Amino acid sequence: MSMSTAKDDAAGAALKSIQCLESINRGVAVHPRSGDPGYPKFNMVRCTQCKRCTEECPFGALDDDEKGTPEPNTTRCRRCGTCMGACPERVISFDDYSVSMLNEMIGSIQVPEDEEEGGYRMLVLVCENDAYPALDMAAMRKNKWSSYVRFIPIRCLGSVNTQWIAEAMSKGLDGVLLLGCKYGDDYQCHFIKGSELCNKRMDNIGETLERLQVEAERVQQKQISIDEYDKIPKMIDDFIEQIEGFGPNPYKGF
Ligand code: SF4
Ligand code: SF4
Repeated sequence: MSMSTAKDDAAGAALKSIQCLESINRGVAVHPRSGDPGYPKFNMVRCTQCKRCTEECPFGALDDDEKGTPEPNTTRCRRCGTCMGACPERVISFDDYSVSMLNEMIGSIQVPEDEEEGGYRMLVLVCENDAYPALDMAAMRKNKWSSYVRFIPIRCLGSVNTQWIAEAMSKGLDGVLLLGCKYGDDYQCHFIKGSELCNKRMDNIGETLERLQVEAERVQQKQISIDEYDKIPKMIDDFIEQIEGFGPNPYKGF
């Protein structure tokens, strides 16, 4: 790291510590964010009644009327954000978790122009249920990984809206890694099928990237359970090595 990057990184660590201490004072956890009691809000003016949110909600918390307009049922809602990730119109948000909020976080990542200016830059979206605590455990055991990565915790991989990937790639980030729970028969996703749904959306992203003549492998999803924290450094470093093989994102600087 350069002096200025180290300074920014240290400031980020200090702010994160303040957030943790403040949450402890209130008796709530930061990850997963137990102190956030908000439910999804729907901006119905822009809803196209496509019914993706009602179909993908893992808890059947969204009914719909005869036109397909979602009717939220908060007694069943687990606040996973899967509906937010599913909505192509980006009309679903939480008070402190939204597509635009994450877009701003991604937008604030400094992307070096070239190797001399600081090298590659990768975004890692980390599920805060298992993957983020696993990352913490790996860091506390003094595991190391490349300083090219920038982590953003998210509520569940099911809440990943493809807009975030588009924002990252158009900003010139060289790759996006999604770290979340295992899916399939032996699933560990806290919201049943969030990570599985994310994986299905990634297929569509891959096709879009190929159309843009950007390697589909620049965006990858990896499964991790909390006790596999020691595998994370290699997972990240292997991903970086693969991206380095492709070279910089051709959209860098545009
Ligand atoms: S936040 Fe999760 S549980 Fe609640 S409506 Fe959306 S998808 Fe369903
Ligand atoms: S996914 Fe979005 S646009 Fe589609 S029905 Fe749900 S709220 Fe409306």
